[in-house]
Amino acid sequence: MSHRQRQYLNLFILFGITLLMLGFTVDVTVTDEAGVKTELPARLGDLWTGHEVLFCHNQACMRSWLTKDLEANDDGVYVCKEDFRGNRCGGKLHPMAYGEWRALPRDTVIFKKQYFHNDDEDLSVYAGVVLSGSDRSSIHRPELCMPSQGHTIESRELIEVPLKGRDPLQIMILNLSRRLPNGVMFHSYYAYWFVGHNVETPHHMERMLLMATDRIFRNVSHRWAYISLSGPKAGIDSREHHDTLREVVPLLYPQISLLPTDI
Ligand SMILES: [Zn+2]
Repeated sequence: MSHRQRQYLNLFILFGITLLMLGFTVDVTVTDEAGVKTELPARLGDLWTGHEVLFCHNQACMRSWLTKDLEANDDGVYVCKEDFRGNRCGGKLHPMAYGEWRALPRDTVIFKKQYFHNDDEDLSVYAGVVLSGSDRSSIHRPELCMPSQGHTIESRELIEVPLKGRDPLQIMILNLSRRLPNGVMFHSYYAYWFVGHNVETPHHMERMLLMATDRIFRNVSHRWAYISLSGPKAGIDSREHHDTLREVVPLLYPQISLLPTDI
């Protein structure tokens, strides 16, 4: 890189930092408009069936459940059947894990479903949507969250998923590994993208800059959504999750997106 190029790069970085600092100190109008619907579909095409994921907040339990394994009580409420040791629990179940509920602003909306392939119950994809609340700090950088949950990020990759009638959707994939208590290495992937007001990006920093420019130049703060898809991988070099994402995303996207198709 030449001296002049380095000067331009420094200027660009300085401009970005200034935007971010300005963006998060100005008073803005908070809008409730989100680029996605507030529920995940029950089915993806003919082959995938989704079940809501719920979390017990009883701290002696903390078990998670799929609604298909529970029965709602007369009020339509699901409660925890038992903890991991088989002891009766009865704790109230929430769409947010306890750690998320503790850490995120109260008006954050989270919903999750696990989609199972109808012909192969070992094949599933975990889908999550986080909708930011009014102070917009609900969405955390996945690259920071994953290591704090015990995962090692082995690699990052950006893929394009073709969608009907519009440009391909860009998705960021983190390839992860984690050593299980029995010593075995567990490999998984975590794919995501962000949705704002008529805009999508797989890049956290671009989202921050878009948020900042909205706040400075338009005096508004839109509700951002953070969509994630994750699941296990057969091994560190397995690429099967690319095929799974290219199958699942075109089925999921039109059912949750509220964005115009020409972005
Ligand atoms: Zn429980």
